[in-house]
Amino acid sequence: MIDSSLKDIAAALRAKRISAVELATDSLARIAAGNPRINAFVTVDRDGALAAAAAADARLAAGTAGRLTGIPLAHKDVFCTEGVLTTCGSKMLANFTAPYDAHVVSLLKQAGAVMVGKTNMDEFAMGSSNENSHFGPTRNPWNTACVPGGSSGGSAAAVAARLVPIATGTDTGGSVRQPAALCGITGIKPTYGTVSRYGMIAYASSLDQGGAFARSAEDCAALLSAMTGHDPRDSTSLERDAEDYGRDLNQPLAGLRIGVPKEFFAEGMEGDVRAAVDAALAEYRKLGATTVEVSLPNARLAIPAYYVIAPAEASSNLSRFDGVRYGHRAADYTDLMDMYCKSRAEGFGGEVKRRILVGTYVLSHGYYDAYYIKAQKLRRLIADDFAAAFRQCDLIAGPTTPTVAFGIGEKSDDPVQMYLGDIYTVAVNLAGLPGLSHPAGFGKGGLPVGLQLIGNYFSEARLLGAAHQFQQVTDWHSRAPQS
Ligand code: GLN
Repeated sequence: MIDSSLKDIAAALRAKRISAVELATDSLARIAAGNPRINAFVTVDRDGALAAAAAADARLAAGTAGRLTGIPLAHKDVFCTEGVLTTCGSKMLANFTAPYDAHVVSLLKQAGAVMVGKTNMDEFAMGSSNENSHFGPTRNPWNTACVPGGSSGGSAAAVAARLVPIATGTDTGGSVRQPAALCGITGIKPTYGTVSRYGMIAYASSLDQGGAFARSAEDCAALLSAMTGHDPRDSTSLERDAEDYGRDLNQPLAGLRIGVPKEFFAEGMEGDVRAAVDAALAEYRKLGATTVEVSLPNARLAIPAYYVIAPAEASSNLSRFDGVRYGHRAADYTDLMDMYCKSRAEGFGGEVKRRILVGTYVLSHGYYDAYYIKAQKLRRLIADDFAAAFRQCDLIAGPTTPTVAFGIGEKSDDPVQMYLGDIYTVAVNLAGLPGLSHPAGFGKGGLPVGLQLIGNYFSEARLLGAAHQFQQVTDWHSRAPQS
């Protein structure tokens, strides 16, 4: 049943063909069988899941169930969960049990979704491969020698391996779209400010945004609709009502203008990815859309701008992990300064340290104007490029990643190579726009390729609608990895 659409699972629950407890038990059994191979979960909350499932069954019996009541779900381990370990993939928080729920977690609890566990991730969401986790790398269910993408790689792998039908993630520079692409599932990051960041451990606050993973756009719409809405506890939460992101699912694509940025096709994209992307664009044309060439002239500056701004914000956000207010404390130290230094040296992994150093440097007196201010100016130019493009088209399509999933260890010694792989995703965060990735075929080694759709602010329903129409005439999203 976990392999079915949310609509079908919900119908089966309502018709009492299956109970929420049976569904949770099935998901837990699949995790027990499949997780040792892919390491998608840091924590499995068996007791919590069975209790939540029993409560969901009671709601179903009482007729007070919502769309997600009884649906098994996994949260990225960046979201605080009351009473359940929240590690953020770090030794720093390896023993941290959050005293409260993130806004997203409480909304999904209220909806009756059944959390089965917390998923593996790059430490503090910094990474593109899930190799930066204190709890070991997550493996791609399509080929366990390959990365699942990052930083929400655990969530993407768990959905791709059919351990859960839906999962949450966060996307600061691509961490929902990129692992969705590399694992062959659908993932959406909404407009900045749509999902509350309350209780979502901060990486780069002006870029961080919660998002949704599922196999199909239709299921992503259901999950996202339950995750959003104004939250006064996050000062950047938009004062907008919750929306039904599924409202455009059945809208035909005739007349839709899809912008294809020429810079995305100029260089860097591997041939197998390009072939799948071109075929997907042809499919969209068959559905009645037209494609127009657009230009994002500053797109090439997105990587340097992002890798200044994100570390700058991270260096500030991560200062709270000092072994006193939060986090791991070294066992032996001589004085306060020694305690700070040793605790942070022991608690953080290499990539996190690199970013704290870079961030501190670009914010320091004398370099601030040259790096940080310059990057902020580029950020504005990049947002302006998108604004100009959206005067010519309704949405933008292109690759999510330049290559299919790469091998574990292949790029881990070369951070710049790793960063360059984020070329198609980071600009979207810099501009605060919504973006989605959906399966678009397979490339080298039989590994999935993702197509990215980028929309103007608040166009999530339109993006999901376009992807849903594509998924009505293709079956890439229903292909499952061999387990
Ligand atoms: N790969 C990017 C980074 O390492 C994006 C990560 C994310 O979106 N959390 O920062």
